[in-house]
Parts: sequence; structure tokens; C-alpha cells
Amino acid sequence: MLYESTRGNHRRVPAAEAIKLGIAPDGGLFVPSEKVIIDSKKLQEMITLDYRQRAHLILKEFLDDYTVDEINNCLQQAYNTENFTSPAIAPLHKLTDSLYILELWHGPTCAFKDMALQILPHFLTKAVDKTGEKSTIVILVATSGDTGKAALEGFKNVPGSKIIVFYPDQGVSEIQKLQMLTQEGNNVAVVAVRGNFDDAQTGVKKIFADRAFNLELQNAGYRLSSANSINWGRLVPQIVYYFSAYLDLAAKDMIKPGEKINFVVPTGNFGNILAAYYAREMGLPVHRLICAANTNNVLTDFIHSGIYNRNRHFVKTISPSMDILISSNLERLLYHVADRDHNKVIHWMTDLQETGRYQIDEHSKNKIQEIFWSDYANEDETLHTISKVHRRFGYIIDTHTAVGMKVYEKYTEATTDGTKTIVASTASPFKFNESVVKAILGEQAVRDQDELQLLHVLSKTSGTDIPAGLKNLDHKPIRHKTITGSEGMAEVVKDILEI
Ligand SMILES: *Cc1c(COP(=O)(O)O)cnc(C)c1O
Repeated sequence: MLYESTRGNHRRVPAAEAIKLGIAPDGGLFVPSEKVIIDSKKLQEMITLDYRQRAHLILKEFLDDYTVDEINNCLQQAYNTENFTSPAIAPLHKLTDSLYILELWHGPTCAFKDMALQILPHFLTKAVDKTGEKSTIVILVATSGDTGKAALEGFKNVPGSKIIVFYPDQGVSEIQKLQMLTQEGNNVAVVAVRGNFDDAQTGVKKIFADRAFNLELQNAGYRLSSANSINWGRLVPQIVYYFSAYLDLAAKDMIKPGEKINFVVPTGNFGNILAAYYAREMGLPVHRLICAANTNNVLTDFIHSGIYNRNRHFVKTISPSMDILISSNLERLLYHVADRDHNKVIHWMTDLQETGRYQIDEHSKNKIQEIFWSDYANEDETLHTISKVHRRFGYIIDTHTAVGMKVYEKYTEATTDGTKTIVASTASPFKFNESVVKAILGEQAVRDQDELQLLHVLSKTSGTDIPAGLKNLDHKPIRHKTITGSEGMAEVVKDILEI
């Protein structure tokens, strides 16, 4: 399998190279150059397999330059019961005969990013060997919260790699900050950047673009890389859980062979739902993909109108991991629905960069609307949904998942579609506990309580333990104390690497 750039200006490369490069050098994203099909017979055979075995069958189609042993080794190091609190890795929770929750948050950081970031480091270190790369890989991450911690947990102590995470000192929650500052590992560094997320992000982008600086690093034996969600190595493991969820329903006879189901995905950067799109293209029986947005509803407008317009106010919401105005992974979908016409993609992306807006052609829009449906949930609807789901099912969901549930309700009202549906649950309710406790117990329950105290309140209310990754955060030693202005970030990188 070779990978081609959506912008058409780079040669096709094997998976290892696509994963090592992250973004294509022409500015595009790598996509598989051929279709992979899992037919109904193969699907049937996968029913009795466990998560890792199912994952192997999917991954080997896309990573055919990795040996069976290499893929198995990656899978064993990532998806085990040391890293995940559920042996099923991504278990399904049944709400009704036709509605299920796919829990993607049993990994070490309690958010769905672990599903990909637990395995990406192993793909990457093997890619380094396979491509004859001699340098130590240095992962640079700018984070607004979830990604940084998930990347740190994924890369900690992975031989041949170092990771440096920059977070805005004003802009992450108390829990997220403590999760990062207490990070253990012999190859990790966490640095506070004075300012907001944009300052940190811009600083990291500048470092990647600075040729002289990169050369200096190379001479010292280092090569920069990214664990960003545009890396193919982050997307491909996400395809697996859509298959696995379907197979779990089939294994329990909840669906007939070949029966189509819907997926609802709380969406930000369009990575998670794009993996569901690939699963559908591969032959997984999927009727509709329901793209759930929060008040930053750029994607909902786009799916309705074919016009992408980021010229609007950025709103800080209670589902912060979906607060995004530019969904990078959408470029891959555009490339496919435009029948791999890279000139169209270049045209739209240039418009986006120059005017903040682009409009796709009628044919591409129709193709998107055949598959995707979208709506959004505002803050009140989100809180209300958490409370309603708790009252009706005795099940507690986080704010992002609540956006998905609300949009699913809107979908069934608008379409009367009774197709069995799985809602992707992207974070543990403990991770966004303030909004969750407020929704369930009321405003007074969160007054004068910090997030760490609220963990205990939620534990009592739900009758479940605080997840290990969030427990005792206030008793762990602070290991990372560096603070810098955004202009000093490159110097900090050199200090950390002792150059
Ligand atoms: C990252 C994230 C999302 C958005 O996923 P995308 O792949 O960026 O669309 C949703 N919910 C949570 C909790 C996340 O961390």
C-alpha cells in the first residue's frame, strides 16, 4: 500500500514513511492510494476475535510494509490491561435495543486520544528503523489539553524518542495541568508558555518551519516530528474500533448479518469521524455518519451548505476538545469525494488560507450529504442531556458525549430513522467533572469546589472509582517547572536536548 498526498505534489510513499513524515512535504495529507475492502465473509470471521486480533487484520492491510511480528508487537505494547482499564479496550454500553455507547476512554488519560496515541509511538519508532533514520525523534506538541497528556503517556520511555509538550499557562484546566506537570518518564518534558493556545501553537509551527534550526538539531542527532492528528498513524488505529464495535453487536446477535448501523461522533478536528468514513468505505455496513458539533458549528454549516466558513467568533465551550474552527482532517474527505482531484483540493485550501472560506462543487457536496448528517448542541442542551441520560439510564456521560447524544436526538426527530445507532463516547465524565456534576446535582454542588474535590463528588454520585490516571494528582510530585515566552521556545528545546 502506498500513500499519496492530497495536494498531488509529492511522490507516493509506504506507510512507514508517511508516518515518519506526518504531514506531506507539499502541505497535503497522506491518504491510501488504493481502497481496502473487508468483505462480509471476512467480517463474519472476525466476530469471534478479540480487539487485538481484529486490529491486526485491519492494520496489516494499511501497514503492509510492517511485518506480522512488528504489528503484533505494536498492538501488544499499546492495547493491554496495564494501559486500558477494560480488557475489551473499547467496550460497548447498551442503553436500549437500538442505542449503544462506545466507550473510547479506558486508556491512561481518560480521553479517546489514547486509542491512537498509545500505538502511534510504536508505529513511529519502527518506521524510523525501516526508513534507515539514524536520528533520535523529537516529538513537539502544542496542546490545548487532551492531546498533550495523551502524547506524553504514549511516548514516555519509548526508546529512540523524546517528547516536548508546550501548553498555554492560561488555557488548560487544573486537572489537565496537573496531569501534565506530574508526568513521569525518562524522555519527557513539559513547558508552560505564557499566553494562550495560539501562542504555543504558533511557536511550535515556527520551530518546524525554521530550516537553520532543524539543521542544527540534525547535526546533533535529532529530527523533529509531530504526533498531530493529521498523521496517518493516528488515523488508522481509529478505524479499528468502528469495526470492533460492529462486531461486538454481531457477536451478541444484536444485529443481523450485514445489517447497517449509524455512528454518531462528537467532532472537532474531524479525525475520529473520518476513521468511521474509512471503515464505511471499506465495506463496514454503515448507514449514516452523524457529525455532532458544539456551538463552534463550522462543520454543521458545511455539511448543510457545502460552504466552509471559519470567519466567525471562536466560542469557549464546556466541550473544549471540540472548540475548533479549522478541521484539518476534512481535507482527506474532500480529496475522496472530489474523486482524488488534487487541483480542486489545492483550490479550496488556498481559498481557506486567503479568505477563511471555500465552497465545494455540487457533486462533492451531494456525496458528503449521502453519507453524513450533522447538527450541533448548545451549552444548555449539553448540560440538559447529561442530566436526562443520567435520570433515564443511570449512566453518566461527559460533555462531549452529551453533544453527540443531543444531536442524535435531533437526528431521530428530523428523520424518524430507527436504524440501530452507536454513539462514540470520547471522554470519561471524570475528566470534565465540573460540568457533569453541575448538570446532575445542580449549581450549588460545584460552588467553592475545585475539580480535584469534584472527582470525589462524582465518584460518590456514580458509585464508580476515580480513574487511576486522575487519582491522587494533588499528591504526585511536580516534575516540570519550565516557563517561557513564545519567543523563547526554540531555546528551551535546545536546553532540553542539551545542544
Ligand atoms: C479530540 C477530542 C474530540 C474531537 O475529535 P476529532 O478527532 O478532533 O474530531 C472530541 N472529544 C474529545 C474528548 C476529544 O479529546
